[in-house]
Amino acid sequence: MKLNLQEILHRVYRELRPRAPIPHFRAEFYPFANINNTIRLREGVLHLRFSDLLEGAPENVIEAIAHILIAKIYKKPIETLYATRYRRYVSSHDLSAKAHLVRQMRGRKRIDSAKGNFYDLEELFDDLNRRFFHGLMGRPQLTWSRGHARNMLGHYDPAHNAIVVSRIFDSVRVPRYAVEYIVYHEMLHLKHPVKLRGSRRCIHGPEFQADERQFPHLAEARLFLKTL
Ligand SMILES: [Zn+2]
Repeated sequence: MKLNLQEILHRVYRELRPRAPIPHFRAEFYPFANINNTIRLREGVLHLRFSDLLEGAPENVIEAIAHILIAKIYKKPIETLYATRYRRYVSSHDLSAKAHLVRQMRGRKRIDSAKGNFYDLEELFDDLNRRFFHGLMGRPQLTWSRGHARNMLGHYDPAHNAIVVSRIFDSVRVPRYAVEYIVYHEMLHLKHPVKLRGSRRCIHGPEFQADERQFPHLAEARLFLKTL
């Protein structure tokens, strides 16, 4: 069932401001670090952001938040019914615990995004740098992907000078050589830069491949990737 946000917003707005013309609404779920919902009016458009922790909340909860936000921006009194409904939902769904966890994760990610639950990409990078590159490679940004991508295990993003590794590797089930291999492969992209031609992002020339063969657990790592 898809939530019809526009319809909810129109209805709530009508209720609060029966005679005013209906503005345009832009509404989205947004990954705030906390349960948070915001509203602002810009050039006649009302922009609403609902915490993504509330994605999947029942329609009447979204309605209650919309009421609170729209009432707030037009300085109307907030109906107790809505305030209570929202508060009750947040406290009954353990959202405070969930929010706490998300805040911790996002907080940590912002400060030290290379550190996962099991593997620390900076530690892996420094170790590989020492073992295979004489410690000469400058450390790019190292981050775990936000999602658990299986189609993009790792990539080097030259625009941000960042190596991004899929979060599926940050697990106790993943042997160290497998995540090392992903980082090592992306480090070789740093060592062997290519001019982007068309949409080919990943070019593995003969020198690249020769370097890749230097990785001691190449066969096991490739085998492991097939099991993902
Ligand atoms: Zn590649």
